[in-house]
Amino acid sequence: MRDEFTSKTKELLFKRVGGRCSNPNCRKATSAPHTDINKSINVGIAAHITAAELNGPRYDPNMSSEERKSVENGIWLCQDHAKLIDCDEMRYTVEIIKEWRTISEKAALLDIEYNNQISTTETNEDKRIIKFYSQCFDRPAFQDEFVQEGSIEAFDRAIEDTITAINVGCLKDRDGNVLFQCLGKSYLFNPEWREKMDSIVDMMRAIRSRYRLAVHLGQIDVGGEYNGRQFYFFHNYEVAKWFDETRSQILFLFSEICKEAGIPKLVFPRKNKSVY
Ligand SMILES: [Zn+2]
Repeated sequence: MRDEFTSKTKELLFKRVGGRCSNPNCRKATSAPHTDINKSINVGIAAHITAAELNGPRYDPNMSSEERKSVENGIWLCQDHAKLIDCDEMRYTVEIIKEWRTISEKAALLDIEYNNQISTTETNEDKRIIKFYSQCFDRPAFQDEFVQEGSIEAFDRAIEDTITAINVGCLKDRDGNVLFQCLGKSYLFNPEWREKMDSIVDMMRAIRSRYRLAVHLGQIDVGGEYNGRQFYFFHNYEVAKWFDETRSQILFLFSEICKEAGIPKLVFPRKNKSVY
């Protein structure tokens, strides 16, 4: 007579390895939904380590019937590996099979612990990076009106420095000293934030190119010097508007990320409305 496992024992064996085959080299999923909403498909087997009946693989005559049908004597496997261990009992010894079970139970536990740990770590790491970017945006180039006068050199440099900071995570001051060190946008775990930061950098690059073109086309007048710095002013309203709108888009996207990350939104005084 076979010493079968009870359904409760089978369920326990299934759950203790996360419903996956316990062969460490397999770890295949063994359950899925059935078309009937009240059922599930199971392609796994609660296999006996020492056989359930006389003459079976690894049969142990010294074990009691109770021991033979206990959780201790079972292992959850996919159909292929349940068949495999019974084909060659010399190769697949009791020790080896029990080791598979131990490894797979550990793996199932790690799956749960590791995932939770990572998701918290990932979120915190992302927030740290976003906070850093927030510091990078905290400069006049992102706060003052474009249409007003300012320093060409400082403006162009500010945009360039911010692009570098977001790309490689290093914010420098005007003299090239490192102010803050963090991580570049490719390190963000949140794919939506990464995508938004990509767009932000693209827009900043567009601002730099458009700015140079505007100077070249005479749409921006380079004014006199003050304290050794050159000043400019737009005399083309459409161009000025484009700069303002593109920058607004950048700040809008970034504010959205800040909101999701629970980081205080950037505050822009922007007191001086268009002077044109
Ligand atoms: Zn398997």
